[in-house]
Amino acid sequence: MANRPFNSVHNLRTSVWQANLSLWRNNLVFGTQGNVSGLDRNRREILIKPSGVAYETLTPAMLVRVRLNGQVVSSKWKPSVDTIHHLFLYRHLKEVGGVCHTHSRFTTVFAILGQSVPTLSTGHADVFGTEIPVTEYVDNSADAIGQAFLSVYRKTHCPAIILGRHGLFAVGTTAEKAAFHALMAEYCAQTSFYALLLGSLVKKEIHPLPEEEIRKWFTRYHSERYGQDKTQEE
Ligand SMILES: [Zn+2]
Repeated sequence: MANRPFNSVHNLRTSVWQANLSLWRNNLVFGTQGNVSGLDRNRREILIKPSGVAYETLTPAMLVRVRLNGQVVSSKWKPSVDTIHHLFLYRHLKEVGGVCHTHSRFTTVFAILGQSVPTLSTGHADVFGTEIPVTEYVDNSADAIGQAFLSVYRKTHCPAIILGRHGLFAVGTTAEKAAFHALMAEYCAQTSFYALLLGSLVKKEIHPLPEEEIRKWFTRYHSERYGQDKTQEE
C-alpha cells in the first residue's frame, strides 16, 4: 500500500478510534460516557465517537464526521452529545487537533470539591508544569462548557482542565495527545488524592513543589532531549 500522509482521513479515523479505546483500556470511562475527537484541518471537520455506543463495540467506521460548523456528514450514527463543546474548542484554539472528555474517578473528585490538583510530584510537573485547574460549575447547554474551558485555558495554558461538578476536558495537537493528557490528569489527581488524604491522617502538611522546580522539570520534559525521537515525545 502506498504511504498515506498522516492527516489522511484513513489514518485520522484509526487514530481517533485508538484514542477512544485508550480511555476505556485505562479505566477512564464508565458505560458509554466519555469521548475523543480528532480534527481534519484540510476538510475542516472532525471525527468523534458516536453517542451512546459501548467502547467494546466501537469500530473506526462508526466514528461520525461533523463539520466545524456543526453539520453532520451523512452517517447512520448520531455524534456524541458533547460534540458542540469539541467544536467550540477547535474553532477557538488553532493549536488544538484533538479533544477528549471524561468523568474519570479522581478528576471528578476534584471537580466535586471545586479544587485544582496541586503539583505535588515531578511526574505532574513534567507533563503539565502547573496545577490542573478547575472551572466553576456550568451547565451543559450551548457554549457554556467551551467558554468556561477557554477562560481558564487562556490564563493557565494547561491542556487538561477540570469542569466544576462534572469531569475533565483535555486538548492536544492530536486525538492521542488529548487522551494522553486525560490519562495523566487522572494519574495526578489520584496520586494527589492519596497523598493529601494520607498526609492529613499522619498530620503531615504537603505543599506543591516550588515554582522553580516545577519549571525545571517541565522544561526538561518538553525539551528535545526527552524521549526517543520527535514522534515519541510522550
Ligand atoms: Zn460530561
